[in-house]
Amino acid sequence: MFDKIIYIRTKRFINKQIISEKKKKEELKNFEKIINEKNIEKRYLLAHNFICDYLDDEFYGKNLCGFKNNICSRRQDMIDKGIIRDTYENGCCHGYKEGRDCEKLKDGRCTTRNIACKLFVCPYLRKKGVHFSLNKIPYARYLFNKRQKLYIITNHFIDQEIIVKGLVKRRYGL
Ligand code: SF4
Ligand code: SF4
Repeated sequence: MFDKIIYIRTKRFINKQIISEKKKKEELKNFEKIINEKNIEKRYLLAHNFICDYLDDEFYGKNLCGFKNNICSRRQDMIDKGIIRDTYENGCCHGYKEGRDCEKLKDGRCTTRNIACKLFVCPYLRKKGVHFSLNKIPYARYLFNKRQKLYIITNHFIDQEIIVKGLVKRRYGL
């Protein structure tokens, strides 16, 4: 019964989005896979993977960070303003404090399956209107409660399997 309500709400949400009909069908099909999985841990793992893929498609597919020759739009802005750093390459996946790239970065792509990391948007991009929240992602909006969502967005750099177990523990909440 509860699954049916989640499904109906998610379907309505997907249909309201301003995306192609093909994309809507694809998202609904993916969500059906999630909701039809009755093992809760497997269900959350599936949803977690779809959310990661969704965010990768958004960031890399649309090049939201505006990368050109490994320099993102924020770093380009810093170069233009003459702000001196150790390197400008690889955007915020290069930590100035440690003076090296994040170990999850491989061939210019983030290989992590951590949603909090993937959701990160710098203030520069935010000012340009780029912002994500779990409530905007159909695989998360109605599937996870507030407690689970807070847990997802506040746990950066944690392995996926640990996050999934944490989600199972927090499934009864607001
Ligand atoms: S989030 Fe901002 S700083 Fe990080 S890669 Fe994107 S544009 Fe660059
Ligand atoms: S986890 Fe991914 S997004 Fe976060 S800093 Fe590392 S490579 Fe970049």
